[in-house]
Amino acid sequence: MTEPIEIHAMINGETYKTEENKPRENPTHPDEIVGYAPVNTKEETIQAIDAAHETFKTWRRSEISERVERMRNAIEKLKEETPNLAELLSREHGKPLYDAEGEVTISIMWMEYACDNVEDVLKDQVEDHDNGRTLIARDAIGVVSAISPWNYPISLSTIKIAPALLTGNTMVLKPSPMAPLAVSKCTEMIANEFPAGVLNMVHGEADVGVELTSNPKVAKIAFTGGTETAKSIMKSAADTIKQMTLELGGNDAAIILDDFDVHDEEAMRRLVISNFLTAGQICMIAKRIYVAKSIYEEFVEKYIEAANKWIRVGDPFGDEVTIGPVNNKNQIEHVQSLIDDAKEKGAEVIKLGEILDSDLFEEGYYMQPSVVLGASQDDPIVQKEQFGPTVPILPFEDDEHALQLANDSIYGLTSSVWGEETHALEIAKRIQAGTTMINTAAVQGLDVRFPFGGVKQSGIGREYGKEGLLAYTETHVINLPDELDLPYIPK
Ligand code: NAD
Repeated sequence: MTEPIEIHAMINGETYKTEENKPRENPTHPDEIVGYAPVNTKEETIQAIDAAHETFKTWRRSEISERVERMRNAIEKLKEETPNLAELLSREHGKPLYDAEGEVTISIMWMEYACDNVEDVLKDQVEDHDNGRTLIARDAIGVVSAISPWNYPISLSTIKIAPALLTGNTMVLKPSPMAPLAVSKCTEMIANEFPAGVLNMVHGEADVGVELTSNPKVAKIAFTGGTETAKSIMKSAADTIKQMTLELGGNDAAIILDDFDVHDEEAMRRLVISNFLTAGQICMIAKRIYVAKSIYEEFVEKYIEAANKWIRVGDPFGDEVTIGPVNNKNQIEHVQSLIDDAKEKGAEVIKLGEILDSDLFEEGYYMQPSVVLGASQDDPIVQKEQFGPTVPILPFEDDEHALQLANDSIYGLTSSVWGEETHALEIAKRIQAGTTMINTAAVQGLDVRFPFGGVKQSGIGREYGKEGLLAYTETHVINLPDELDLPYIPK
């Protein structure tokens, strides 16, 4: 058993030791403590915000080239540390090692994209016109409170850190207590490449979150997490009207059209991955599958075949393993309650994949992946975000019906359409979602160059792409009048 590690808060460039620390267990072997994370107080959170606020006065005026150079140095450190970060992430989270490595890699890809594009995004635009000249500048906003979830702790923190710092803001980050260790190591590495106070980090639960989202010195909130938490955050931030990017829950529909080739094993494998990667604990996983009635029976048979081939449940460090344990017990209870409810209402639950080690399966927070057949559109298994290794499959009558079912949700994060491309594109355009993919889904179609985010209750704003950099700026219009002679200005 490896010795537990200790991580600390970072305030104004100093490692800050707290009185209270919370253990983080290994979901594969729950008796093993992977490490301890601090539980910061409201006062410590205020100190971190004050440090970021003070540092903003100078950091906002730093040269873009200096910011990029510092960020590139941080990227080099992260590249060297990728194997260690991935290993730690896998142990505290439960996701397989390949998945954890992928998370660090996509974080680095985004940080590099942000470095390559920030100068262009921040460039002043100047327009000559009848009344003189107008300059459209992009200013940094101020102190950003970044709050991240447990499912992709490193990538959903760096997705905020890189653009915020590169555009001249300072930050206080609060990772989730459910996977706080690897992201803290990563944040420390980045913070050490920047002047003290530019990137600060505190840990804790909702009370720390409330200070981060209500303190008048905070100018912007960048939050990824659940829709219900976002509602509390909006209330908490209302008194001081803060800027916000909210990346929230999803209940992403996959529409399988009548011209989808159920014998296309590669496409079927992509669909299975888009339902079960990271044990289904991804905001943008396909969480409801709607299949054209004419191919429903055959589809279900081929889908189960493909799922049984791909799904190997076991130790996250095992070579063959595709799915590890669920991150925490609450999540298992939530997913199980949705499955039980569907069963009680008459749905059929079919277990999928192979359990590679039954003793380990009993020991850890494991759940056997499943597919739910015969549920109704109004059932919680279809309407709620399961965020775990189960997926309902429902038939639809025709394209209009498919669209009606897919759009019947409070969420609108991503979605996918599977079938002949022109047909799929027609349907894709009519889905209410921030992203729609054709013949692929979830992270398999994710590209850091393009904006990502949700509509409806899946969020506000975008991350990634140039929009993901602009989200940390305010537009500042400066007019340089020649001889203004407008009729409504009295002489
Ligand atoms: P969560 O909302 O429970 O927690 C997210 C973060 O908010 C954690 O750091 C938590 O400590 C903090 N928090 C809790 N209460 C708070 C409060 N009152 N004020 C401020 N902060 C508070 O979410 P989670 O369980 O960590 O993550 C799962 C959810 O996140 C799912 O709904 C998933 O879909 C969503 N998610 C969305 C995206 C996206 O990009 N849209 C990405 C990943 C996860």
